[in-house]
Amino acid sequence: MEVSRVCELVEKERNEMVKTLCDLIRIKAIGPDNGGEGELDRAVYIQEKIESWGFEVERYDARDDRAKGGVRPNLVVRLDGTEANDRRVWIVTHMDVVPEGDLSLWDSPPFEPVVKDGKVYGRGSEDNTQPLVSSMFALKVLKTLEVDYPLCLAFVSDEETGSRYGIQHLLNLEIFRKGDLFIVPDAGTPQGDCIEVAEKSILWLKFVVEGVQAHASMTHVAVNAAREAMKFLLELDEVLHSRFSAENNLFIPPTSTFEPTRREKNVDNINTIPGKDVSYFDCRILPEYSLDSVVGVVEEVISAFNDKSRARVGYEVVQREESPPTSPDSEVVRLLKKTIRVVSGVDAKPVGFGGNTCASFFRKAGYEAAVWSTVDGTAHQPNEYAVIDYMVKDAKVFACLPFV
Ligand SMILES: [Zn+2]
Repeated sequence: MEVSRVCELVEKERNEMVKTLCDLIRIKAIGPDNGGEGELDRAVYIQEKIESWGFEVERYDARDDRAKGGVRPNLVVRLDGTEANDRRVWIVTHMDVVPEGDLSLWDSPPFEPVVKDGKVYGRGSEDNTQPLVSSMFALKVLKTLEVDYPLCLAFVSDEETGSRYGIQHLLNLEIFRKGDLFIVPDAGTPQGDCIEVAEKSILWLKFVVEGVQAHASMTHVAVNAAREAMKFLLELDEVLHSRFSAENNLFIPPTSTFEPTRREKNVDNINTIPGKDVSYFDCRILPEYSLDSVVGVVEEVISAFNDKSRARVGYEVVQREESPPTSPDSEVVRLLKKTIRVVSGVDAKPVGFGGNTCASFFRKAGYEAAVWSTVDGTAHQPNEYAVIDYMVKDAKVFACLPFV
């Protein structure tokens, strides 16, 4: 089969793809954690469409009484040829979208798609509906060609609010086989030239410094928690940067990052010395380092500080996410790289991102996962849009996976 012939067949689906994208934007799929009713209506639409092409669709509902129908649905579709093969290639996209945010920042209603200048505007258009539609139509074309290839699609719920009812549910049900490969088109660049193979680990820390509150003139009885916190935070900042200074050029920026971010309000008036200070660090750590080693150093700094200060510093882990990288030489990366080159002539390079996608759950479970798509990066913004050419081109890449 000629790659050019496959691309021609995908090209013929262009109008259908735009229509499907618009239909899906109209079906609001916001998770209950974000105040919505969930993904059921979207799942039903996707299931009916794919079944009309002659596929059987499996549904794996996770129970969630807060959502419409009491469920968070997850769909799986398999192309012929998946049973005979040990290892399968999965394309995994998510059905849920984030809320519209501040409505006044939108030029058009967020859930009413607007097609303009080769783009489709609407909440969820890029994240993640554009790649979702690409994967659907790649599968459709492969079916019409009667191709036997171990390709499976999964459409999951709850990506935006923790994945407990989505990817994690499917992993718990053990529907994936050892050795399966995963393509997660949920981040990318406008050139489609970056394959994300690693994500920095995330560690959010909260620090509470306890001192003694007093009148601002009574410094002899006070222990100023604000001053002690500033000293402590600067010291911690320096120690973390020097102890975890490795560079990894897969990532932009190439180092781990340790950023003091939020500080809670302390006293209301200027003439009181604060007795308590609460502040936070957002740390994004290269996969070279374990989060335990970072937490260990944080504890060392705290205990040394407490020895010399009259204040008491304590900490709490607010969030931690850690996932091993997928090798840049892994099969899924090689397959994707080769197909991208054949279809679009682009030489895609493996990179790392500081964010977090559902690929991290696969990596944690021991699978190879690559994140790739062609997007302008308007996810979660007002006036989010999908580029129609990107959607069609990425569908061509997915449809050509069996032929390179
Ligand atoms: Zn997404």
